[in-house]
Amino acid sequence: MAQHLREALASVNSLLTLNDSSGTSGGVQWIGLREVREKTTICHARDEKPYINEVQDSHGIMVEVLANGQFGYAASSSRDGASLRRAVERAHTQAMQASRWAIHRFSLEQRPVTTAHYSSSVQYPLSEFSAGTLNDVLISICQKLQRPKIVRTEAFVQAIETDVHFVSSNGSDAHQNFSYLTADFEATASDGSLVQSRTDGGLRGRSYQGGWEFIRDPALWSRIERVSEQAIELLSAENCPSETLPLILLPDQMMLQIHESIGHPLELDRILGDERNYAGWSFVKLEDFGKLQYGSSLMNVTFDPTVQKEYASYAWDDTGCSATREHLIENGVLKRPLGGMESQLRAGLAGVANARASSWNRAPIDRMANINLEPGTSTLDEMIASVERGIIMESNRSWSIDDFRNKFQFGCEYAQLIENGKITRTLKNPNYRGVTVPFWNNLRKVGNAETVGTYGTPHCGKGEPNQAIRVGHASPACLFDGIEVFGGGAV
Ligand SMILES: [Zn+2]
Repeated sequence: MAQHLREALASVNSLLTLNDSSGTSGGVQWIGLREVREKTTICHARDEKPYINEVQDSHGIMVEVLANGQFGYAASSSRDGASLRRAVERAHTQAMQASRWAIHRFSLEQRPVTTAHYSSSVQYPLSEFSAGTLNDVLISICQKLQRPKIVRTEAFVQAIETDVHFVSSNGSDAHQNFSYLTADFEATASDGSLVQSRTDGGLRGRSYQGGWEFIRDPALWSRIERVSEQAIELLSAENCPSETLPLILLPDQMMLQIHESIGHPLELDRILGDERNYAGWSFVKLEDFGKLQYGSSLMNVTFDPTVQKEYASYAWDDTGCSATREHLIENGVLKRPLGGMESQLRAGLAGVANARASSWNRAPIDRMANINLEPGTSTLDEMIASVERGIIMESNRSWSIDDFRNKFQFGCEYAQLIENGKITRTLKNPNYRGVTVPFWNNLRKVGNAETVGTYGTPHCGKGEPNQAIRVGHASPACLFDGIEVFGGGAV
């Protein structure tokens, strides 16, 4: 699709107002065209039968215009020259209307030139599997999950192939080809009125960039047995006690903890108030950057879209800004917000390349990409051995956090009690609660690279109209001191 987008740009470039890069006359200062073609395949098997088989295709172009210091947007599913000219005119009108109430004036600095190309690293391309083969795989997973007391089995795969081409009047001409895979499976066990479920990666499954290699991975097949056995084990487990204890969180719960209590509060558009009507605000203030002791000195958090295979890796964001690894929190101190070029200008803070759109019919806004907690030095055994009485929790089951991303309460699928440095019992219905900054300041040990798990989700929601964006999170296991835990929440 490369050539026709360049031709489309050439056909609308005549609308640019030459010799008016400042835009003071109200002419068009800049035009960007972002074409997105995406194919989504969803297969879901329940109790060894195909349950959902779906293929969605999406293809269109976002037209962005800078005029009089403001951006205007108009998307088009028709890709002919006349439709795109109309879209440029609509976006221009919108920008001019917005400029009457402008607080900040943008320029070409907010739309840097990119010519970088990116492709997900893929071993077995998504196009190689037929729906029939995929259903056979999911039915096999269901069969392997089946055993006495298991009353429901499910297996799910979502495969997305995305091709993005971005061209602009100041010389951007760049491609990104993504191959995304999300997979999960679940076993539900029942005994009388007791019901317990285990999944492979908590409520959000596992998401990666790559191909079918994740389904063919022997590690996935060895996890199936564990999921099924633990669902049954939970039926006879005691409820999690209500106490204040040391708590070890494994990576598939750390993912949610990072997402909700680091990622969202550090989104710069939220801090600036843009999302207070919908996704919420943030307890973080502009003056906190460089000063706030967000967590203990063991806490190092990066924005890192450069990790191969992690779900939200890319070379440039949807404004053409080059994606680089940056520390958001270093030795516990808050350093940098998740803000793209426009938010950076508004806030007067350095940010990251994170202005992203969920599709061709949405404008880019500040999002997470891969937000990772960097590994420390402790082994999981050392963490367990250091605890006199405490709890290990894994796999998110429920979450609740306030609009400011301050007070939270999270539930997990599975927990174990630690007594005198050893795991002694399984616990069901585990939950914990806390307040973001005190919680992270209670971080006592950070697991080493061997404890790291990499996860992601396609379902991070934000923006009006809503945009579900893909994010990745990698984390080691972590030990927190003095956490309020409690049981309940399921039968
Ligand atoms: Zn989210």
